[in-house]
Amino acid sequence: MSAITIYAARRILTMNPNRPFATHVAVRDGRILGAGRLEELEGWGPFQLDRRFETMVLMPGFVEGHSHAFEGGVWKFPYVGFFDRRAPDGTLARGLKSIEEVTARLREIERAMPDDGQPLLAWGFDPIYFGGRRMNLADVDGVSSVRKVLVVHSNFHVMNTNTPVLLQAGIDRSTNVHGIVKDESGEPTGELQEMAAKYMAYRASGIDLAAVMSDEQAAWRFARVAQLAGVTTATDLHNELPDSTVDGYLRASASAEFPIRLLPAFGAGTTPPEQGVEKIAALRRRNNDKLRFGLIKIVTDGSIQGLSARMRWPGYYNGLPNGVWNVGPDEIDRILQAYHRAGFQVNIHTNGDEAIDVALDAIEKAVHLHPRRDHRHVLQHVQMADAAQFRRMAALGVCANLFANHIFYWGDIHYTQTLGPERAERMNGCATALANRVPMAIHCDAPVTPIGPLFTAWCAVNRRTASGRLLGEAERISVADALRAITLGAAYTLKLDQELGSIEVGKRADLAILHDDPFDIPAEALRDIRIWGTMLGGHIFQAPT
Ligand SMILES: [Zn+2]
Repeated sequence: MSAITIYAARRILTMNPNRPFATHVAVRDGRILGAGRLEELEGWGPFQLDRRFETMVLMPGFVEGHSHAFEGGVWKFPYVGFFDRRAPDGTLARGLKSIEEVTARLREIERAMPDDGQPLLAWGFDPIYFGGRRMNLADVDGVSSVRKVLVVHSNFHVMNTNTPVLLQAGIDRSTNVHGIVKDESGEPTGELQEMAAKYMAYRASGIDLAAVMSDEQAAWRFARVAQLAGVTTATDLHNELPDSTVDGYLRASASAEFPIRLLPAFGAGTTPPEQGVEKIAALRRRNNDKLRFGLIKIVTDGSIQGLSARMRWPGYYNGLPNGVWNVGPDEIDRILQAYHRAGFQVNIHTNGDEAIDVALDAIEKAVHLHPRRDHRHVLQHVQMADAAQFRRMAALGVCANLFANHIFYWGDIHYTQTLGPERAERMNGCATALANRVPMAIHCDAPVTPIGPLFTAWCAVNRRTASGRLLGEAERISVADALRAITLGAAYTLKLDQELGSIEVGKRADLAILHDDPFDIPAEALRDIRIWGTMLGGHIFQAPT
């Protein structure tokens, strides 16, 4: 039997309703032996008392149920987003406040690049803040008329390109591929929406984005960024898992220094489902404590602010046309049923309310054809769900992972442009989900927004937009419910609640170590809580100060 360490804390928020608060936690073999008072834990035998967290607050390590290891990959490329953002090395990338500022920055970067024909890719662009003006071909051609330039939007569903990319990809007025945006005269504007169109641009530019974005180094950078935010378990929620990525993840997770448990979800849209089932069944046999294969991801529509979400009547508030399907109603049954029948848990990306209907119809059909208890399929984002859709989720045993960060980042835009006031106020309806007993988590979708579960919890509790608007007062939830959603709630949606998400006997010794007590500060200050570091399986990781 190995040694017992008992950690003393100012307070421990256990998320175990039988014993919600404690002052000490005992750890042995990377697992929690018990949480309670010191004299209660002494009964386990000889121990070492560790007082280093005596002035701090311990919580279960945060569980990020929808993020992408992409967050570790994108920082290889320049950021051209609207909001200031911290890079993994802690430096601040300044937000750019107009299309002109964006193109000026891109010209600067382009001039500094060698004349080797390498493409220029930038990310984080968010045209929706620029008064309705879209980036066009002339804007991007102004950066370079020779080098291929790809400007990826913050939602990653849309990009703008220049003429060299369109020429190489063979995209012109006659190209009939879904997602190629054309002007009134029928000419491509350089804007490409969703996978089929974007893929043409990546291929033409010689960029294998999937490989660059999820190699071993990307996994490490992602894990470090997550760890700084108190995260001990994070998903990589869409990955085609080529061998190079699998090998990189296996190597990274084998290191004692790798600070998170990583859960990649297989992006099932482009592989024949029979092959996908076999591939993931084989990968699952290679799982270790810190790397868990087995999740499946299907992407239905696009994003609301990218104007590519599939909406029911009456559609976009600003009258723009309905969005586009990645996996649409004609394909989803075949894909979902294959993975459902094979016993996998499927995560379905849905933003618009039409997409939510399509996903729920497909789940209902799959469950009818192949009854399965506790399938725990998850609708991801589910941003536009109304109360009836939440009731349907509850009836079907479907979990909701809501995109609470959207309220801050795009809430104003949804109120004024995309959804209009009524639907904007109900979006990411955490209170309605809880009232209908839908198992619920909340997420950041990094790199779409930065990873930081306490910020995400702040969004769900306060529902303040970037301009300070209170968006949907009735959908606000309590601090306790929000903290549950970033710990045990998220663990449940990953079928890991037996192992993670609360501080109680038998579970993994995964902790978030905080300087401040979330229950002891005003709810508006939740996002300002400072994080000392984490513990993962008893191993301590201090965040650099
Ligand atoms: Zn995502």
